[in-house]
Amino acid sequence: MKKTVFYTVFAFLFFNQIAISQVVEDPEIKKMITEIKAENLEATVRKLVSFGTRHTLSDTKSKTRGIGAAQQWVKSEFDKYALESNGRLTAAIDYFTVKADGKRINKDSQLGNVMATLKGTDPNDNRVLIISGHLDSRVSDVMNVKSDAPGANDDASGVAAVMELAKVMSKRAFPATIIFVAVVGEEQGLIGARHLAETAKAANWNIVAMLNNDMIGNSLSSGTNVRDNTQIRVFSETIPFLETEEEAKMRKATSRDNDSPSRLLARYIKTVTEQYVDQLTVKLVYRNDRFLRGGDHTPFSQNGFTAVRFCEMNENFDHQHQDLRTENGIKYGDLVEFMDFDYLRKNTCSNLATLANLAWSPKAPENVGIEVKNLSNSSALSWNAPEEKVQYGYQILMRETASSHWEKTFFVKDTKVEIPYSKDNYFFAIQTVDALGHASLPVFPVPIR
Ligand SMILES: [Zn+2]
Repeated sequence: MKKTVFYTVFAFLFFNQIAISQVVEDPEIKKMITEIKAENLEATVRKLVSFGTRHTLSDTKSKTRGIGAAQQWVKSEFDKYALESNGRLTAAIDYFTVKADGKRINKDSQLGNVMATLKGTDPNDNRVLIISGHLDSRVSDVMNVKSDAPGANDDASGVAAVMELAKVMSKRAFPATIIFVAVVGEEQGLIGARHLAETAKAANWNIVAMLNNDMIGNSLSSGTNVRDNTQIRVFSETIPFLETEEEAKMRKATSRDNDSPSRLLARYIKTVTEQYVDQLTVKLVYRNDRFLRGGDHTPFSQNGFTAVRFCEMNENFDHQHQDLRTENGIKYGDLVEFMDFDYLRKNTCSNLATLANLAWSPKAPENVGIEVKNLSNSSALSWNAPEEKVQYGYQILMRETASSHWEKTFFVKDTKVEIPYSKDNYFFAIQTVDALGHASLPVFPVPIR
């Protein structure tokens, strides 16, 4: 009899302690998603194209043509959004000088990233989120500063997403800081992004996620003629660029080859996108970027930050880096007429769901560990509340070792849990979560011996 009572109580405690997570939706995020309009994105892309060329080394004096006019216009738009932000959004052009390199920079030049910073409302929260697109464009010859280089998709699409999000999100208050940036010099060697990443590193910014958007508005592939506006690729590095010997040892000991911080961010993007954005799925690509080409997330990865690249599912090489011309009946050039603005809208919403969830999320759990001192057919995990503060709860993410994405999510209030699934057969990660479902980035556990 006594024994029965004991088991009943134990079972009660056990089931009370762990619950399968329910999907919680934040109505404010849903509302913001409805505020992202394809026609606004199209108007922005058309305006950016109207500057003729946005080549990094093009005219900086003209009010209507060249990179300088484009920078001033983006800055003036950011300034307009700032008026409606209760003083929390501030815009600036971060000018810097780049030396001639005999390659893609033919003379010492002044470049400038156009930035809008939405200051976090919590003075004790130093987290920074960065979203970028590149303002500059090019044609066939990367040094051609004169010819029209519309760059509608590459990368007015990314800049339009950044601007639309600055407009919608600056009407809200987030504890963490969000930086919306249109960088320059991408086509000349990721120069603007590198400048920003190095600035951030030197100033010790706590960047928890950097989202690079480069070509997110074309849905028709060249060559294969596949039309697909229901998938977006998110590229994430496999082994972190700055992995130390100690970290490499730990990675091998825990078989963590597929769980770099950037990949954990990529999975986070997949989860929130497929929760909030209709008719869009995230294709996780297990590489930092595509063959032969780079992107603005890379200088951030190289400086030790967690960074990913969003890029359309299918690329059209007739419309990238091409002189405007018609040849054998094929129209070449990165023109507005080839874009799919509803696809661009959905991809912008994917970024929105990511930024809003992260910026409203509690901080990530600390000292996350998994017990490995005993042989057992369960998994015991423990961690500390961020900054020792009581939290609403935590999610334990679980997947089989051969699976690409999380398969099961448990919710607990406590800072430890024992799950009746073998630690040998699954990967886990823990995230802090609030009552509206905003979750921190997950933390991969280290073994506790
Ligand atoms: Zn690009």
